Amino acid sequence: MRGPVTKVCESCNQVFECGQYGCWCAQLAITEQQMDWIEQAFNDCLCSACLNKVISGELGAPSLRRSR
Ligand SMILES: [Zn+2]
Ligand SMILES: [Zn+2]
Repeated sequence: MRGPVTKVCESCNQVFECGQYGCWCAQLAITEQQMDWIEQAFNDCLCSACLNKVISGELGAPSLRRSR
């Protein structure tokens, strides 16, 4: 059950690979709040393009942005 899994990004419908353990998404500078939002809004992790949008604040719940 290890190794990359092909998934479809729920945000942009692009096919991407999620690496599970040691996934590339773990290397991104994503905050816990942003991760929480992704978990709530989607069932799975997103493609790198959409994750980068979340990190830059382009995508995400406005109420979660700098909410502290
Ligand atoms: Zn995407
Ligand atoms: Zn992933």
